[in-house]
Amino acid sequence: MNLPQLTAYLGSLVPADHDPLEAKVKSLKTKIKSEERPYAVFLTFDLERQSIRIEDPIPFSKDILYEYGYFGNNDAAQLQSYLVREVESLHYLLTSVWNDLRLALQKHNMGDSRLSKWIEEMEASELLVTGNKKGRGKVCLDRFQLPGSLEGKSVTLQKENRVICIGSQKFKYEAFVHAMLEHENKKDRFVLVIPAVFEQGVRIVLSQHEDYRKLVRKINNLELPEEREEDSHSSEQRVCYVCQQLKPSVKSEYTTKFSRTGINKVFTTTTINSARYKTDGYSYDDAYAICLECYRHLVNGEALIEKRFKGSIARESAFFLPEGLFEPFDYDSIGRIKDRLDFAFQCKEAGEWLEMVEADAEWMQHPYFTIHIIVYRTDGTSFTVLETIEDVPALRFMQIMKTIRQASGQLKPFLQGMSLGNIYRMVPIRETKKGEQVNVGRVLSLYKALFSGYRIRSETLFDYASEALDKGILQLSKEKIDNYRNMGLDEYHPDKVDFFIQRMAMQYLALIQVFQQLAILDRPVFTPSFGTEEQDMQLYDSVEAVEQFLDRQGFSSEAKALFYLGCMIHRVGVEQYKKGHKTKPVLKKIHFQGMSASEVYRLYYDVLDKLRQYDAFDRYSETLIEGFHRHCGILKEREWPLSDHANVFYIMSGYAYQVGALASHNKGRKQDGDPTESGADPAIAQLP
Ligand SMILES: [Zn+2]
Repeated sequence: MNLPQLTAYLGSLVPADHDPLEAKVKSLKTKIKSEERPYAVFLTFDLERQSIRIEDPIPFSKDILYEYGYFGNNDAAQLQSYLVREVESLHYLLTSVWNDLRLALQKHNMGDSRLSKWIEEMEASELLVTGNKKGRGKVCLDRFQLPGSLEGKSVTLQKENRVICIGSQKFKYEAFVHAMLEHENKKDRFVLVIPAVFEQGVRIVLSQHEDYRKLVRKINNLELPEEREEDSHSSEQRVCYVCQQLKPSVKSEYTTKFSRTGINKVFTTTTINSARYKTDGYSYDDAYAICLECYRHLVNGEALIEKRFKGSIARESAFFLPEGLFEPFDYDSIGRIKDRLDFAFQCKEAGEWLEMVEADAEWMQHPYFTIHIIVYRTDGTSFTVLETIEDVPALRFMQIMKTIRQASGQLKPFLQGMSLGNIYRMVPIRETKKGEQVNVGRVLSLYKALFSGYRIRSETLFDYASEALDKGILQLSKEKIDNYRNMGLDEYHPDKVDFFIQRMAMQYLALIQVFQQLAILDRPVFTPSFGTEEQDMQLYDSVEAVEQFLDRQGFSSEAKALFYLGCMIHRVGVEQYKKGHKTKPVLKKIHFQGMSASEVYRLYYDVLDKLRQYDAFDRYSETLIEGFHRHCGILKEREWPLSDHANVFYIMSGYAYQVGALASHNKGRKQDGDPTESGADPAIAQLP
């Protein structure tokens, strides 16, 4: 993938009549809680009364940002000429903005514009003073029209503390707005400040004035065709990094105008490091200088990607970028593709996704495109790439989803559907206090292996499975879940541990099957089975059913033996539950950090003891014990081929099977309408 070329290409699809400033609109940094109501307010300079007012709150929504043109703060090195500001940046509006705006207008040959005139009039009305250098000038704060209670007091700004003092009282900026409006309710937030002038009975919002919009276009090299002034000074030609053509005015400085948190940041930060160092500094121009046209496409492409191609994977932000292999996309259909991809991670069942895609004529007619996925984090000022997955053919996506549908279908009713999103819920991810996901890379590399067809060690999957069970069961035993939330533990808290075990074990079983069928496991784990038709079993707890299940999954004989041991453990758990040991102490005997063959052997004898102790040596227990021996003979004398984590996994898959068998058995009885049986057993009463 050539990211800048792709971004520029997507940008070139944006229609010509599209407002280029839309791409520069920023979102708010202020966080608003759900119970709060945000507003924008006007900062009005009244030329007739020679006073300044904060007035007329209007409900804030995202549309306001576009309607009034919110472009954030200018970069530190540039003139602070943007008019609409977040309340947290109010000091700019009270200091340098007016001076810098006037300088910016002069710099761009707009010194005679109406907007320049207004600034002169504001100065003539003694509402502000300007200077002649960047950063100078200030608003005359004594012109603020104070509410009655504060009338007559002096107003001063302490920029370094972000505080405005009225008399001896100090106000943070937002509190200042509250005070000026005499508005007490703290649930109402004043987040955005929009400057205006008032003359001849009319309020003119400066950021909506055509002069201002033209200036912002010029500052960002986004002029409309009729506004462009040919760059006559530069006759030197260079090759543009993006379109590879020799052109005049090919510069690296355009790239400084990209958003700090947008996709073009990926491209500038990776190429910046390859720039040549010369005596006068790094020569960025030969590394990534671009032409004006490509720059404009990149800006539009960046905004389009932000708006239409942003989704999430594993609760991290992600861009999904489609690229046509044989034919270019058209602007209208391209966004729908991303929606489909995003849904693949959000839906509950792979089958649900496939049905939707198969019904989408456009997708099916043009399935020859590839997808690039960039997973990233941004805090508003910086941009970190967590993972990139490039060149995934759409057909690969479909193949993966079909394989997931098939593998999870085999596990019905033990597993109720599975999709890509489930993978995120399977690997324990620790969170910091701030909610940052520490080791999310593990999940992302599973996705990468899946999409790009990289090999993955089967042992890694067994490790994750044991760890997930370990961490999950521990969390569920706590009063309150305090980490590993990605595993969806709330659903099982506090007393549905068995169902957690069932879901985990069965999902891992499905996942390992998927990896094996896609031929990306380092070695085969299961023996491919024949006649993989789904069977409708009436009684899952018959030995025939168990054997059928194991054959279908292609378990080795050792794995089968451990599976039976897991069934026995569940049996003990049920007896313990009946005796009032709700936490099923037998689970404590499983060491989720891994169990060697000799530990498994000890566990087996412990379990036999328990069955005896609880007087549960009935016909069914005996068939389980028989099953165990049939598949592994006498444990002690064998050389054991499975790893310590694989041992745990297979034991727990047997346990999980029993949970499911019991659940569906119970459900079946209920459906038969036998009220005396249904849910009467306290061991089964744990079931929902
Ligand atoms: Zn170019």
